[in-house]
Amino acid sequence: MSVIYFSKEIEEIAELIESNKLIKKARQIGIKVHFGEKGCVTFISPDDVKKIYCAVKKANNNTKVNLVETNSLYRGARTNTEEHLKTAKEHGFDFAPIDILDSDGDYEIDGNKNFKKLKIGKNTENYDFFIIISHVKGHIMAGYGGALKNVAMGLASRKGKLDMHSRISPKINTKKCESCGKCISECPAGAIFFDRNNKAEIGSKCIGCAHCIAICPSKAIKIPWNSVNGRELGERIVDYSYGLIKFRKMIYINVLKNITKDCDCLDKEQKKEMEDIGYLFSEDVVAIEQASFDFVKKALNKLCLLDIQNQFDYAQNLGMGNKKYELKELV
Ligand code: SF4
Ligand code: SF4
Repeated sequence: MSVIYFSKEIEEIAELIESNKLIKKARQIGIKVHFGEKGCVTFISPDDVKKIYCAVKKANNNTKVNLVETNSLYRGARTNTEEHLKTAKEHGFDFAPIDILDSDGDYEIDGNKNFKKLKIGKNTENYDFFIIISHVKGHIMAGYGGALKNVAMGLASRKGKLDMHSRISPKINTKKCESCGKCISECPAGAIFFDRNNKAEIGSKCIGCAHCIAICPSKAIKIPWNSVNGRELGERIVDYSYGLIKFRKMIYINVLKNITKDCDCLDKEQKKEMEDIGYLFSEDVVAIEQASFDFVKKALNKLCLLDIQNQFDYAQNLGMGNKKYELKELV
């Protein structure tokens, strides 16, 4: 049985961080955060993250500590590093250095059932320890987003994100294509060409790097979401997080505040679905996810999320942690 610490106050969690033995031994620490898409107002509080950042610095003043994230798969205000850093700063994350881990491309690590290799942000290898701060909320496809998703989607490069979301190549919406040729000149595999109507088309040479999705000025290149269903996506997320957790040591803070139906990647305001609950801390990713979901279910019986227990079962079967937990309330 794993221990989960619960508090309504971030200061109590910061005290745990300050005394954490693993942090004291770490050489370079990444604090994984989602800065929120432009237009989102319910992303994780920068003041909370700052308190954790200061606690880490107090725990180990000799280590390098950065806020870390990767660029988004879709086109938005976090698609490239320059825009992403601007959005992060506008959202209040200007108190610590930020490292966008896939700024310099991909790095491959060993995979699992669904993937031979996992494609993660290249800079991830520079860190020996991660503190995963996750906003617990719903997710349009996976049903629930917490620590497992934050590790998997959050540390994967764009190529890795596309791998999880889809089994097939991106698709071009010919009605939106303005025939600028940018995707053709930038595709690293030479997979895109103009069809007889002078509209871009993706051929069989596609290696799924997702670069075209990010650079098309007309947003004409789409992720084929329907090739993977919600349950499969959940399993693929666990596969990625399994590989990453084997690759580097991680601990977890789940924030159960501003709980919305969809994730912080949406570029619009969302309403809170329930009253704020507080913060959970654990060294066991499966336990903290199970506990978070139990909290959310308890407080909101009508939660319109998919059945996501299969994610936690799969993660437990892989040996990533224990669904059984003991909750210790910090007072
Ligand atoms: S970049 Fe977009 S608009 Fe330009 S040719 Fe490719 S699909 Fe069409
Ligand atoms: S995903 Fe990458 S390889 Fe495939 S068509 Fe787009 S740019 Fe080319």
